[in-house]
Amino acid sequence: MFSTSTKSPYITKRRSSIHGYGVYARCDIVKGTQIIEYVGEKITKREAEKRADRDLSQAQVNSDHGAVYIFVLNNRYDIDGNVAYNTARYINHSCDPNCEAEIDRGKIWIAALRDIKKGEELSYNYGYDLDDYEQHPCKCQSNRCVGFIASEELWPQLKSLLNKGRI
Ligand SMILES: [Zn+2]
Repeated sequence: MFSTSTKSPYITKRRSSIHGYGVYARCDIVKGTQIIEYVGEKITKREAEKRADRDLSQAQVNSDHGAVYIFVLNNRYDIDGNVAYNTARYINHSCDPNCEAEIDRGKIWIAALRDIKKGEELSYNYGYDLDDYEQHPCKCQSNRCVGFIASEELWPQLKSLLNKGRI
């Protein structure tokens, strides 16, 4: 267990223009670098479902607590990153991210998807499914923004959902 917040030489945390706090590159970061581990409590799928429902209902009450922090680790377990020591939970979602989450030998890492310049805000795609997508509007401001936080594989589906809504 970690007694203090996780640290990485690559990053610094401060207020973000996207949402609440954000995590920024403290130096140039080379593509493929494992920047910081995404840590938390290891929980069963069943417990994860319960917590996701709870987090979502809290998000509806308090928009500053807007995220679901559950991460898929493997077929049996998830990681609940909603713990004070998990610095990686401050990384925002983007539809055009510069990082991605990768699983390496039982650990979740936030890794650089491309070369990142000092001072850039770090982001990754949260990979949400389309259940309750309306609860997760995206404010990433990128040119590719689809308006909601969703896994990129689901964008065609999301776009057709949004089009139907307009008829
Ligand atoms: Zn977006």
